[in-house]
Amino acid sequence: MGGRREAEGVQLVLLGPPGAGKGTQAEMLSQFYGIPQISTGNILRAAVQAGSELGRQAQKYMNAGQLVPDEVIIGVVQERLGKPDCAAGFLLDGFPRTVPQAEALDRVLAEMERPLTAAVEVAVDPEEVVERLSLRRTCPQCAAVYHLKNKPPRQPGVCDACGAALVQREDDREEVIRKRLEVYAQQTAPLVDYYAGKKLLLKVDGGQEIGAVQAEIRRKLEAVVNKA
Ligand code: AMP
Repeated sequence: MGGRREAEGVQLVLLGPPGAGKGTQAEMLSQFYGIPQISTGNILRAAVQAGSELGRQAQKYMNAGQLVPDEVIIGVVQERLGKPDCAAGFLLDGFPRTVPQAEALDRVLAEMERPLTAAVEVAVDPEEVVERLSLRRTCPQCAAVYHLKNKPPRQPGVCDACGAALVQREDDREEVIRKRLEVYAQQTAPLVDYYAGKKLLLKVDGGQEIGAVQAEIRRKLEAVVNKA
């Protein structure tokens, strides 16, 4: 699959239920295209850890598996997209999550004169998600993500990248996972039709192993990116 590849103006959105492997795929795509991965979940978790006002507002929603209010997260993303590292493009992971967020993103991108290149849907069977998420471990320090079966750390319980002790996310407990899946079906799944209607949707099978999912995404993006 080769190394990093420069691409100008690649603006991507990654869709899919919790546990689809969006974060892992986003990280790989971000390296390949040389564009920042903007994960709203990671931004919010960092804010909670830092004890900021944003973190204080977001924490109760996150722990309950609910979405933080649109106006809060839209402001965060708008500010982030204005940073200089987004000049050559960006990849949004975990945003938008509702139709009003998608509409707000369209407005922001229109202002920036940076149309969306594609919305990639990583589709997985919801039944599989509960097992996947219960085996997920994350690094509280650098946000690296592992899976005890599919992507274990080299040394059990220790982050390969920074050496911190891995943890299970508060919202990866089974009852919260079920709530998150319900929220996805009700509030986020409609975005599949939203982007299909704009002819921006690329659907990939997230049930394959990590490298195969990545290869399918790149193959499908290739056609779109080369046209741009
Ligand atoms: P994630 O890491 O993407 O699964 O996000 C973890 C949690 O952060 C979600 O369950 C929400 O509570 C919150 N969150 C992340 N992104 C968004 C978003 N775009 N809109 C609302 N809430 C979000």
